[in-house]
Amino acid sequence: MFFYRVRFFSLFGFDVYVDASWLLLAVLIAWSLAVGVFPSIDPGLTSAAYWSMAVVATVGLLFSIVFHEMSHAAVAQVFGMPIRGITLFIFGGVAEMHSEPTSALSEFLMALAGPVASAVLGLLFFLLFGFVASSQGPAAVAGVLWYLSCLNWTLAAFNLVPAFPLDGGPMLRAALWGWRKDLIWATSIAAGAGNIFGILLIVLGLIEVLRGDFVGGVWLSLIGLFLRGAASATYEQTLARQILAGHPVSRFMNRRPITVSPELSVRELVEDYVYRYHHKVLPVVRDGRLLGCVTTAQVGEDQWGRRTVAEIMEPCSEDNTISPETDALEAMTKMQRTGRSPLLVVDRGQLVGILSLRDLLEFLTLKLQFEGSGGQRAVQPQEG
Ligand SMILES: [Zn+2]
Repeated sequence: MFFYRVRFFSLFGFDVYVDASWLLLAVLIAWSLAVGVFPSIDPGLTSAAYWSMAVVATVGLLFSIVFHEMSHAAVAQVFGMPIRGITLFIFGGVAEMHSEPTSALSEFLMALAGPVASAVLGLLFFLLFGFVASSQGPAAVAGVLWYLSCLNWTLAAFNLVPAFPLDGGPMLRAALWGWRKDLIWATSIAAGAGNIFGILLIVLGLIEVLRGDFVGGVWLSLIGLFLRGAASATYEQTLARQILAGHPVSRFMNRRPITVSPELSVRELVEDYVYRYHHKVLPVVRDGRLLGCVTTAQVGEDQWGRRTVAEIMEPCSEDNTISPETDALEAMTKMQRTGRSPLLVVDRGQLVGILSLRDLLEFLTLKLQFEGSGGQRAVQPQEG
């Protein structure tokens, strides 16, 4: 989802990251404010004045988004759901939680915190604007304050649309979840709404393009596309969480993985193992002890196959191993985060199995096929 992110700052224990896409967005916003928005709000100022207003307003926009996300994080922490960090990217901000909300009420309040914070911030900017305007203060300052108050109110209103991944989505889900006690059903409705809202924005964007507003229309369509993608991702994540959580890795792992010896030449490795079993990752084992793993990417570097497996293999690390007792959900999160699959399942230095993302996804698919995801199977919210 993110291209490249850098840590921006840390505040109250939250890490705030900025995605490279946000920097691009910031430049675009500043430009459109300087040449379009501010000249129409405050006519008759110099170009330098418009550009300084635009820079200040862009910083204010950044602050507004961080403030919005921070308020989610603060409420999450009150309910004991610590937030890992906040990433600002091209479509706003995303607060990353460690886990799903544990009760309908906490989810509702956590989602509501963002729009409420934005509305309050919008009101504050509006009061400041009123003060500056009534005391005949500089028009540039008043213009920026007016823009920031409108921006925060828009942020609040847009986020209240009851569609995932907007804040209204979790609010709708929490209400449905509290009512029918079925989290998966509630998620499918809120995610479905996200999908429809996304399509609506795409269509509106196309109409805008046809009416001549190319940039605005494309922008709207892109937001719609993003919302659709994020809505279905939320649904899949919830399914995975509900089904995998609480089951150990050992339940899903392949207990008899194909292993290779470190003395094997790379040529033999390719001929006898890679071509035969089509595995991308092979554990390297000697006398039952795991030494490391060899991947097809490392084979590719040794074109002539002259070296041995021991020379090209990579050692075991946090990233490519997992213990058999680990929660399968945690294993899946790790695979998605690091992009590494399969993982070697290791118990006290011994290889006990291998676990691939495909194994987990196949299990999910079968589970859904046999048990369905509708109202028959009630998932109880755990109070806590
Ligand atoms: Zn929000």
